[in-house]
Amino acid sequence: MADIKALKTAGMLPMRLKNHFSVRLRVLGGDLSPDQLRTAADAADRFGRGKVHVTSRQGMEIPFVKFEDLEAMREFLAEGGLSLGIGGPTVRAVTACQGNKVCPWGCVDSQGFAREVSKKYQTKKLKCKFKIGVTGCANNCLKAEQNDIGVKGGLFSELDFSKCVGCGLCVGTCRAGALTLVKGERLDRDASGCVGCGKCVRVCPSGAWKGVEGYRVYFGGSFGNRIAVAREAFPMLRDKKDALGAMGAALDYFAENGLPGERFCNLLDRLGWDDFKNNLRETLGPGFFPESPEKSPGERAAKSRAQNGRKGRGKSSDKTGAKSRPASRVKKA
Ligand code: SF4
Ligand code: SF4
Ligand code: SF4
Repeated sequence: MADIKALKTAGMLPMRLKNHFSVRLRVLGGDLSPDQLRTAADAADRFGRGKVHVTSRQGMEIPFVKFEDLEAMREFLAEGGLSLGIGGPTVRAVTACQGNKVCPWGCVDSQGFAREVSKKYQTKKLKCKFKIGVTGCANNCLKAEQNDIGVKGGLFSELDFSKCVGCGLCVGTCRAGALTLVKGERLDRDASGCVGCGKCVRVCPSGAWKGVEGYRVYFGGSFGNRIAVAREAFPMLRDKKDALGAMGAALDYFAENGLPGERFCNLLDRLGWDDFKNNLRETLGPGFFPESPEKSPGERAAKSRAQNGRKGRGKSSDKTGAKSRPASRVKKA
């Protein structure tokens, strides 16, 4: 008799129709090559009923495959460069938007980051499924906060006010309302309101803004039976390795403390957000956390800005203006 649990874990999901399965393909970051797509189409014709379903998490499933055809289909897919999607208690296929290799708004390479995450953590043994998604900027097309761990690309924006021609475009484009031209003498930023979208960098016609890649990491989201919005434990990270390390630390915490079948958000409720955060602080070091005497990665970026005459991330405004440019050249936004 078929081991249905093992089949499900291997990506072959029983259908309502007796003896039939919907076969899930492994799709990383929503990307497939033309050859892989052709293989999927051929497999659907040959083993299914000519139907391929695109799932809500960027995956693909081929339904109406008979039990006796499963092994032959798996071999056929493997020859065409496709493997079956992983199910069960582990990290599921990492989803990602197109990121900065394609999308004009992208702050980071979401696809490349998703591949790194997958390589590092895809086979990790857990007690419940775990979803990771990577979105390239604050537009959040991939909905970072809906994942057990979501990563959102951002930019640390830095201003060289001596290059500013006072056009006001950055002020107008900042949907967070974080920028203000003050009497044409300086450009203030409400650092607590800045979401790191990097739009100021892109619209500036004079190259006064410079953007440095950043990674915001969110923990504990779920949009299934339970709705939970993932949240940040520390400010935006400058170093990709820090983001990957933080994800690893959270996965270890989940593996060590989770109960069988318990989703990450429920574990965080059971043990408390502070317990998780303290564990991250111990594992990653206090440098990640702004209240710490040591500098967090976000603060390191702020320090770098401060070295150029500006204040960093915090509740107070960045006074980004400089006396190096005559006020008469500044137009009001
Ligand atoms: S999240 Fe940003 S980078 Fe990703 S597709 Fe949307 S707009 Fe582009
Ligand atoms: S990066 Fe910050 S200051 Fe610049 S447009 Fe986005 S929210 Fe505004
Ligand atoms: S020139 Fe000055 S006001 Fe215009 S977008 Fe650049 S920084 Fe903003």
